[in-house]
Amino acid sequence: MSDDTYAGVVYDLDGTLVDLAVNWRAVERGLERILDDVGVDPAPLDAWELLDAAEDAGVGDAAEALISEHEVDGAERAIRLPHADDVPDAERVAVCSLNCERACRVALANEELLDHVRAVVGRDSLPGRERKPHPAPLLRAVESLDLPPEDVVFVGDADRDAETARRAGTGFRYV
Ligand SMILES: [Mg+2]
Repeated sequence: MSDDTYAGVVYDLDGTLVDLAVNWRAVERGLERILDDVGVDPAPLDAWELLDAAEDAGVGDAAEALISEHEVDGAERAIRLPHADDVPDAERVAVCSLNCERACRVALANEELLDHVRAVVGRDSLPGRERKPHPAPLLRAVESLDLPPEDVVFVGDADRDAETARRAGTGFRYV
């Protein structure tokens, strides 16, 4: 199914519109230190699993602050990806990302894409801080387009994005 059959588009950010210049290994080391300080010996996990573990251990705010700092720095030096040129200059576009909203806004503003989107939904945008593959962030982005989920395609680069789209009831396309 082509994107033309959808009235609205929601884009993932990192790996889809831009590559954030984040040293994720450094993020993971920082998160491991936060967990180590509270006596949790983390198994080898990625940043998002470490964030889950930090929240479970009661140090979620510190973990969130560390990740966000790296992301905003990485957003300043993000590399534009070819798909960014395909963002329609229309009203019905939004962004739904696992990155913090501030980093998303910095990267989108630097690429002069921020004015093209109706909503930027990051992992910290919703009161409950639901994160993909939870469907809530994508549904919030869809809501900003004033369209039902089935009329919207989510464009992303990760299996997590495909799973989010499935749960939210939108279409999906790999970038
Ligand atoms: Mg991505």
